[in-house]
Amino acid sequence: MEDILNLDINENRYSRFELIPWWNQELLHNSTIMVVGAGAIGNELIKNLALLGIGKILIVDMDKIEQTNLTRSILYRMSDIDKYKADAAVEKAMEINPDVTAIPLKVNVATDIGLGVFRKMDIILGGLDNREARLSINQACYKVNKPWIDGAIEVLNGFARVFVPPGPCYECTMTETDWKLINKRKSCALLTHEQMLEGKIPTTPTSSSVIAGIQVQEMLKLLHNDRNLPTLAGKGYVFNGLTHDSFVVEYQRKDDCMSHDTFEVIKEMPWSARNTSISEMLKQAKEDLGEEAILEFDRDIATTAACVCGNSKEIFNVVNKLKNRDIICEKCGKTMRFETIHSISGNEEFLDKKLFDIGIPLFHIISARSRLNYIHYELTSDKNEVLGGLF
Ligand SMILES: [Zn+2]
Ligand SMILES: [Zn+2]
Repeated sequence: MEDILNLDINENRYSRFELIPWWNQELLHNSTIMVVGAGAIGNELIKNLALLGIGKILIVDMDKIEQTNLTRSILYRMSDIDKYKADAAVEKAMEINPDVTAIPLKVNVATDIGLGVFRKMDIILGGLDNREARLSINQACYKVNKPWIDGAIEVLNGFARVFVPPGPCYECTMTETDWKLINKRKSCALLTHEQMLEGKIPTTPTSSSVIAGIQVQEMLKLLHNDRNLPTLAGKGYVFNGLTHDSFVVEYQRKDDCMSHDTFEVIKEMPWSARNTSISEMLKQAKEDLGEEAILEFDRDIATTAACVCGNSKEIFNVVNKLKNRDIICEKCGKTMRFETIHSISGNEEFLDKKLFDIGIPLFHIISARSRLNYIHYELTSDKNEVLGGLF
């Protein structure tokens, strides 16, 4: 009885949590979590992280708040309409709990988050609505060996899946239908961001809170990994909102899966995507790996475009980010053909270009290879610009 009285006197914000035997509030305060997507699921994820006192939260979303978001987004108000979701969510997270530091990253998930960003996280939480974004987060997480927890909802149903390298990954769970849908969208040439969002999915605040709750609960157990709690690593929680039946599926790791690449040697370099040139990086690669070294990018980069009318122009952008207007000939109005590269051997004519100017994001990690030997260079000087508010 006396103990309980003492507890009352010494109570703080987190006292109820600390009654849980395995709970470590300091660990949560020192954790860094990335939330990708600040929509229906993302709002619930961020709300939970703030309530729990997760110390550092990175919120990634490039969209603005619309009126339709207000039915599923606890963090947004009428007065937030037209603000960036990431900005409003950051503000509300720190209002819910001043112990939290949150920062926004208003970029395209699939192309503009450097791998160095993923590397600084403890766990990545996904609140996404499309397969392409899931696939690119999945690959990023495996490259830098980070767990990620995906959530998906549709009407009243949903699932939460936990992927921990080197176990089964998101790509391992993909069915033929998933691939067909991805390829169908890819074949529609160059989709604009608006078109990407067209596949609008009906969702509710009830299913998003159920699924995000499971995701954050899994995150808590993974963070307390020294406590040997059971987790959903390599598994998925499936929730049927009509019957409230739920079950757990176990995924199989596919040996031929393309997403299991994990970087072994990552070298932190005093480089920035903004002012390090391709040639400077290639020179270092040749010093480290020998004259045969080449640079390998994790993306296709369009270099130049040429038109049947004889007109040609420089592009230097990631193929996935090209818009139709980028490859329309301004002389005759026809669609131009463009050249792409994804590696650099040293014979290219544009070696003096800066990495950022060919579509490499800040704080990225770039691979150099000579035969089967790899080194991965992190553009560590960009850390402050991207994550300065957190570290
Ligand atoms: Zn896989
Ligand atoms: Zn032309």
